[in-house]
Amino acid sequence: KKSISDEVVKAQTAKPIEDTIFGKIARKEIKVDLLHEDDQCVAFHDVNKQAPTHFLVIPKEPIPQLSACTSSNEKLLGHLLIVAAQVAKKQGLADDGYRLVINNGRNACQSVYHLHIHVLGGRQLDWPPV
Ligand code: 5GP
Repeated sequence: KKSISDEVVKAQTAKPIEDTIFGKIARKEIKVDLLHEDDQCVAFHDVNKQAPTHFLVIPKEPIPQLSACTSSNEKLLGHLLIVAAQVAKKQGLADDGYRLVINNGRNACQSVYHLHIHVLGGRQLDWPPV
């Protein structure tokens, strides 16, 4: 049987879960047109597109960034890449090519701390990315 003090200890040691706009999208609290959904992830168009086609693939689990992943996330990360390629094909990007980007942290200009893969295509992309 749990005592009250167990609950107090739990509350004091619990880390607050940082919510983000992508968490709300993943939980369908904010409605966006989904290009893909399954039990692990969703994909949707970026609101500020940087190419004729620019969509994001995000896990439902609120992992803040790539560097927070561990080997326990291996399967999920592989799944996100496969979904990115499947949605890219459905969006007509497969023949001419497309690019995946993960911005991790400040120097990479990560602005939303919920892991996401950018998929960009529909034009010739420059290299290196600036
Ligand atoms: P980051 O810079 O963190 O790698 O990328 C975050 C991306 O999320 C940006 O490209 C930005 O345009 C996009 N974004 C931010 N807020 C929203 C939103 O509410 N809806 C959608 N669809 N995209 C968003």
